[in-house]
Amino acid sequence: MTFDLLIRNATLADGRSGQDIAVSAERIVAVERAITAEAGEVIDAEGQLVSPPFIDPHFHMDATLSLGIPRINRSGTLLEGIALWGELKPLLTHDALVERALRYCDLAVAQGLLAIRSHIDISDSLIAVDALLEVRERVKPYIDLQLVAFPQDGYYRSPRAVDLLKEALDRGIEIVGGIPHFERTMEAGRQSVAALFRIAADRGLRVDIHCDESDDPLSRHVETMAAETVRFGLGDRVTASHCTSMHSMDNYYASKLIALIAESGMNVIANPLINITLQGPHDTYPKRRGLTRVPELLAAGVNVSLGQDCCMDPWYSLGSGDMLEVAHMAVHVGQMTSQDAMATCFEAVTTHSAKTMGLDGYGIAPGCRADMVLLQAASPVEAIRLRATRLAVIRAGRVIARTPARAASLSLPGRPAVVNPAAYAPRIARA
Ligand SMILES: [Zn+2]
Repeated sequence: MTFDLLIRNATLADGRSGQDIAVSAERIVAVERAITAEAGEVIDAEGQLVSPPFIDPHFHMDATLSLGIPRINRSGTLLEGIALWGELKPLLTHDALVERALRYCDLAVAQGLLAIRSHIDISDSLIAVDALLEVRERVKPYIDLQLVAFPQDGYYRSPRAVDLLKEALDRGIEIVGGIPHFERTMEAGRQSVAALFRIAADRGLRVDIHCDESDDPLSRHVETMAAETVRFGLGDRVTASHCTSMHSMDNYYASKLIALIAESGMNVIANPLINITLQGPHDTYPKRRGLTRVPELLAAGVNVSLGQDCCMDPWYSLGSGDMLEVAHMAVHVGQMTSQDAMATCFEAVTTHSAKTMGLDGYGIAPGCRADMVLLQAASPVEAIRLRATRLAVIRAGRVIARTPARAASLSLPGRPAVVNPAAYAPRIARA
C-alpha cells in the first residue's frame, strides 16, 4: 500500500494525539495510530495540531487591499469608510479587481484559509461581479470561493439594485444578499427581506443578509429573517450576518428572538474585528462592544461562525487574512475565556463556518477532502493564543504553502539560544 501523503504524529482539534493521517487520490483514507505504509510524501507533525483549513464565511473581496485608493480612511469610522467606498467605486476596473482579489487569495492560502464567502456590491455596477466570477474560477484549485450578490446601498434604496441583483444571479452569483437596516424605513427593510427570500426560494439559492448591523435595539430584521426561513423551509441555507443590534436589545426580547433563530435553523455570523471597531460610534461611556450575543446563541443551539469582513479596505486598515486573529478577538470581546468557549471559537472559524457555507467533505476523517493545516501549536486554544504559524497548508493532498517555524535566537548569557513560542505553555496546562 502506498499513499500519496502521510502525516505522522498529529494532534487533532478534538484532542486525539499521536494520529497518522493517510491520503490517497485527494481524500483522507485513514486516521489512526501507527499506520505502516509507504507514501509519496511524509510529514512529521511532531505532535502539533493538524486542523481542517480555516474558513472565512464573511468577507468583501471587491474592496480588499484597496487601502489608500483614492485616499486613506483618516478617521477610521464607518461613515468615512462608506464615503470612501463611494469615491473608489467609479475608479474600479476589471483588471485591478482581479489582481487585488488574486493577491488576497495568495495571502489567504499562506494563512491556511481555503474557503471564503465574499459579498460583492451590486448596487450600481456589475463590474465586480464579472471580476470575482473570473477569480472564483481561477482560484478553484486552491480556494472554495462563494459569492453573494450584495446590494450594499439598499435593495430598494439604491435605484438600480433590484435589477442588478437579478442580473448578478443570472450571471452565476450563487447567494442572495441584502441589507434591510439600511433601507429607508423599517417597513422597506421588512419588504426587502421578504422579496430576497422569495428570489432565493424560487431559484433554489442560499441567503446571506447583512442584518441589523446597527446599535439600534429596535432594528429587528433578524426576526423577519427567522420567520421567512421557517415560511420558505430554507433552514440552514440562510445566514444572518453581523446582528449587532442584538447586543443592545432588551434582554426579554432577546430571549424570545434567540429561540426564534434557533427554531428556524439559520446560521449567524459575527465579525468581531469589525463589530468592535465600527459599533458604538455614538456612545460616550460606557461604550458598547457591538458584538452579537454569541455565547447565548451557541447555548441555544444556533450555528455561529466568525468572519473577518474586511482586510485593508475603506472600512478597516488592518487585517491579515488570519482567522486565528478573528477568533482571538472573539474570545476577548465576547469574554469567551472558558476552556470550552475558546475551543468553540476555533470551531467557529473552521467546522461551524463549513456548515454555514455548506461545504462537503470537510474535516479530518476518512472520506474527507485532504485539505489540512499543520500549525505550530499543540491545541486549538494554543493556536488562538499564538495566532500560530501555519507550518504547512495542504490542498487535495498536496502542500501548497509552507512557513518556517517561528523561533527567535536569543543572545543572553546563561539563557537558551532559541525561543520557540509554542514551547512555553506549562506542560500541566496541556494535560
Ligand atoms: Zn460585511
